[in-house]
Amino acid sequence: MGGAGLVVRDLSVGYGPVRALRGVSLQVPEGAVVTVLGANGAGKSTLLRAISRTLSFHGGTVAEGEIRLDDRRLDRLAPDRVVAAGVSQVPEGRQVFARMTVADNLRAGALGGDRADRTGALARVHQLFPVLAERARQRAGLLSGGEQQMLAVARALMAAPKVLLLDEPSLGLAPLMAERIADTIRQINTQGTSVLLVEQNAALALRLATHAYVLEVGEVTLSGPAAELAASDEVRRRYLGVVDEDAAADAAQRTTRTLTRWEG
Ligand code: ATP
Repeated sequence: MGGAGLVVRDLSVGYGPVRALRGVSLQVPEGAVVTVLGANGAGKSTLLRAISRTLSFHGGTVAEGEIRLDDRRLDRLAPDRVVAAGVSQVPEGRQVFARMTVADNLRAGALGGDRADRTGALARVHQLFPVLAERARQRAGLLSGGEQQMLAVARALMAAPKVLLLDEPSLGLAPLMAERIADTIRQINTQGTSVLLVEQNAALALRLATHAYVLEVGEVTLSGPAAELAASDEVRRRYLGVVDEDAAADAAQRTTRTLTRWEG
């Protein structure tokens, strides 16, 4: 890992009177996979929208804070300049252009660049997702859910980002397809792209990530190496669905005692 990478400092965001993020700070060092865990409504999508500067499309505004990529401020740029600076987002719910062909969807993701850049980027995404080469002329709306997710990721990669922002890539996918997407994220990272991954599937996210943050009602409540968070009681109970066996045994004993009293 080298440079500072993506740094978010003291970020507060609102939608009109609704405060969605409060004083959020996090870092995605160059070359890292960082995940943000959190329940529905915790503010995960809002965080990614603030970084990609697409917040205004949703009626949101940044009240305070700073976002930088390798010392360049992103928080005053237009969304296309953020992409040009090296940060591409895969929004929640895939959002491919359903009526356009797979090839045209990919073309739409490529920044200006020259023909050689575009050809290089296309070869890279076809190597990662061979199915998109096979389906190049097909309408994107006819792809399966998993293939649409691949196309959404591939489209973001066409801009050759330094940092890829992924919003719930496993949402609504069968476990096998979610694993395939996870493998691809690993591969994309190995090839040099940093990843900020927002996920409700905490088990999958913690396996992929080096560092993790927990977001609760707009605030970071826990952060640290992913392996440490995965081992913490709090994360195991709230996000990995691991039952505390001692507490469960106590509860079972109390129930048995109550029933015995009742019956006796
Ligand atoms: P989910 O997993 O359900 O997408 P999330 O963690 O991504 O949840 P956000 O979508 O960022 O959470 O929402 C954070 C808060 O901001 C919530 O209280 C939500 O209701 C509110 N919010 C999100 N989008 C808007 C919007 N466009 N207008 C008003 N409030 C919004």
